[in-house]
Amino acid sequence: MTDPDPDTLKAHFLPLMQSELARLQAATEETAADRKPVELDQQSVGRLSRMDAMQQQAMASAQEARRKGRIRALQAAMARLDTDEFGWCNDCGDFIGLKRLELDPTVMRCRDCAG
Ligand SMILES: [Zn+2]
Repeated sequence: MTDPDPDTLKAHFLPLMQSELARLQAATEETAADRKPVELDQQSVGRLSRMDAMQQQAMASAQEARRKGRIRALQAAMARLDTDEFGWCNDCGDFIGLKRLELDPTVMRCRDCAG
């Protein structure tokens, strides 16, 4: 495979990653209230039992942790675009391949090296 032009990669993948990042950051803001510690005051919990509220809070926090991990991966991939490292395997240095990058632009290894 011929090596792709870094500008072409950037023009294609940067907008994709920017829109995913914007979506995730919006979701983080929209769900901030769901992650607040459950109030001791039963009144504020309303019809939900305190156990339910605590379970939902734990789920929202776990989702947020996954979202934060994805945000970090996207930011790292965008930084690699800036230094023209994006798209090349971290281990063997070969081009990762457009299809693989399309599936997930944050991958850092080619299929062979990822095992
Ligand atoms: Zn490789």
